[in-house]
Amino acid sequence: MSKVIVITGASSGIGKETALIMAKDGAKLVLGARRENLLQELVKEVEALGGEAVYAVTDVTKADQVEALAKLAVDKFSRIDVWLNNAGIMPQSLLKQKKIEDWDAMIDINIKGTLYGIGAALPYMEEQKAGQFINISSVAGHTARTGSAVYSATKWAVRAISESLREEVAQDGSNIRVTVISPGAINTELLSSVTDKEFQSNFEDFYKAYGISADRVALTIKQAIDLPEDATWNEVIIRPTKQA
Ligand code: NDP
Repeated sequence: MSKVIVITGASSGIGKETALIMAKDGAKLVLGARRENLLQELVKEVEALGGEAVYAVTDVTKADQVEALAKLAVDKFSRIDVWLNNAGIMPQSLLKQKKIEDWDAMIDINIKGTLYGIGAALPYMEEQKAGQFINISSVAGHTARTGSAVYSATKWAVRAISESLREEVAQDGSNIRVTVISPGAINTELLSSVTDKEFQSNFEDFYKAYGISADRVALTIKQAIDLPEDATWNEVIIRPTKQA
């Protein structure tokens, strides 16, 4: 059966590559992000690969827009098999720089966006008694470094929320799977969200040296989906082989 997959942050990077890889598999895709022109192009690319896709302009900091994305999936395809909480930003900086706007944005997008996605899709999955959440954390959700305080905290939170969700649904009579994927350095547009020039330049050097392409993560996501449904990859770390 071709699966209905909802992706937040689908307009670029890991979200986009996941849409393209799942399209080749005949998936039915529901794409959310803020940049409408990129979502429109992606729908065409998905269709050219034999998949089916719809989109809704979705800012994950707005709970009503995330609810609407879930409703679009159910109205169009009658169910939600996979919800990929992928939208995220990484404006790292030193705490003493006190970049409060960046702190708030990371908390709103990376944590609250993930919660709103779970809140929107869980009732449908409970009704179906099946489904899968795939939540994107990070290697930075396992290790905090200078400058990563708030980003790491948000990605740690994604893991905490996911583990608590896993326990909540494990014995409620449903077959809802919870998977966390924690990538290392992946070449995407993520560095454009770094507002501090020095951090951005250091990241650019690091990603140039070690970064791998986003389809590696998309393949991992596909494998997590393809596993027989009585088994779950609860957490996967995927790093470039040469990343220290
Ligand atoms: P990209 O910047 O390419 O993708 C991020 C996506 O998030 C974009 O599609 C963007 O779309 C979307 N987004 C940002 N803000 C919002 C918002 N408020 N509402 C809805 N969508 C939003 O980077 P990646 O593909 O790398 O990032 C995907 C995830 O992977 C993130 O959670 C990131 O933290 C995580 N990650 C990435 C790593 C890397 O090295 N690249 C490493 C570890 C984790 P739009 O602007 O159109 O809204």
